[in-house]
Amino acid sequence: MMDKPKEFCGVIGIYNHTEAAEMAYLSLYSMQHRGQEGAGIVSSNGKNVFRHVGQGLIHDVFYSHEIIEKLKGYMAIGHNRYSTTGLNSAANVQPILVNSKDGPLALAHNGNLVNSRTLRYELQEKGAIFQTSTDTEVIVHLICWSKAPTFLDRIKDALSQVRGAFSLLIMTPDMLVAARDPNAIRPLALGHIGDATIIASETCAMDLIDATYQRDIEPGEIIVIDQHGIRSDTIGQTPCRKHCIFEFIYFSRPDSRIFGEYVDKTRRKLGKQLALEHPADADVVFSVPDSSNTAALGYAHRSGLKFELALIRNHYVGRTFIQPHQKIRDFHVKVKFNPVGGVLKNRRVVVVEDSIVRGTTLRILTRMIRRAGAKEVHVRVSSPPIRFPCFYGMDFPTKKELIANRKTVEEIRQYMDVDTLGYLSIEGLLEAVPGDPCDYCTACFNGIYPIPVEKIRKSQYE
Ligand code: SF4
Repeated sequence: MMDKPKEFCGVIGIYNHTEAAEMAYLSLYSMQHRGQEGAGIVSSNGKNVFRHVGQGLIHDVFYSHEIIEKLKGYMAIGHNRYSTTGLNSAANVQPILVNSKDGPLALAHNGNLVNSRTLRYELQEKGAIFQTSTDTEVIVHLICWSKAPTFLDRIKDALSQVRGAFSLLIMTPDMLVAARDPNAIRPLALGHIGDATIIASETCAMDLIDATYQRDIEPGEIIVIDQHGIRSDTIGQTPCRKHCIFEFIYFSRPDSRIFGEYVDKTRRKLGKQLALEHPADADVVFSVPDSSNTAALGYAHRSGLKFELALIRNHYVGRTFIQPHQKIRDFHVKVKFNPVGGVLKNRRVVVVEDSIVRGTTLRILTRMIRRAGAKEVHVRVSSPPIRFPCFYGMDFPTKKELIANRKTVEEIRQYMDVDTLGYLSIEGLLEAVPGDPCDYCTACFNGIYPIPVEKIRKSQYE
């Protein structure tokens, strides 16, 4: 329903905890924003592995405590899925579990591989039979087909062949392995609760279970955890950071810490920078809740304008709802947002939005804001115009559907029918994020893809 890029996935791994599956379940809850199509946990007691997966939200999949109790053992990996690659089907829900020559092998993956079609074709030519349409299964086959001498060498061999984004958890009955691609596109953090080790896509998953964040998994690093302790290795490729800058703009929760910084802090900076670049002669500023809240606070702080809550979001709308027989104008947006007339009437307002994809929802919202009495509507966007698709784990529509790919900023302003429209510049964005600007992927804004993408995949998004 919402005109937003879709979240990708979240992963969690726990080792050496008496309630490993329960901890994984709670952590998945806090990362529900990273995927709502399916979820699953695989656990192990050192000898046997146990799996429960399903389609839907966490509470749909793990609807009773008995389910968690059946996931025995001291280690577990879990996954929240959004289908960036592969269909939204039961077969594609992760963690994947196979019986390999090394015994049971479970995998949970966040990110997208950019050469998985080619690798899949080559594997099928050799005789591999795929059970799912995910790119993650390609990694499983590469590990199983590898002739390298040890299990860890087989993992390294597999990961040296794949290109793209992977924050990956691999589990055998007695070992947990975490790996991150050499560009570290998606976040992956390491922490602990007492003697237990935890690895999670976002640190908010650690906060919920009282775990302590230690550090990020390094680009191209492999962490192996087993009865001998924790050791760090590399997948043998030169690291070159290209973090997804969109994690700061929209995806990650503001209370998480990614790429070495708190999301909240960076998102406020985006709002402040936006206020510097695009001030507005207005009375109040407000956000399109919830993802734009923090940037709007930053904008209000720097501009000196009063921050208000002028759009109320209904958090209880399910993913499906019954449409009324009688046509209600803009019903699908109205059911989620309602403007606060008392705040808007006769006011000149600044609406802060984190990103515009197609522009359809924001157009309806600004119309609702005007109807509620706003005198002037100024839209400010805390990211640059999205002109290109993402191939590294985020689901954007095709190029033609991206409004900024076919319209200028002025044409978008006219389409939105607002008084002024201002986007954050790429330079301003890079100024606001922590560390070296070269450490970030900005391909959806400028079309400069840090990792080459196979042609067949690119053509799908034309
Ligand atoms: S293209 Fe955009 S969304 Fe995709 S990884 Fe790069 S910055 Fe993130």
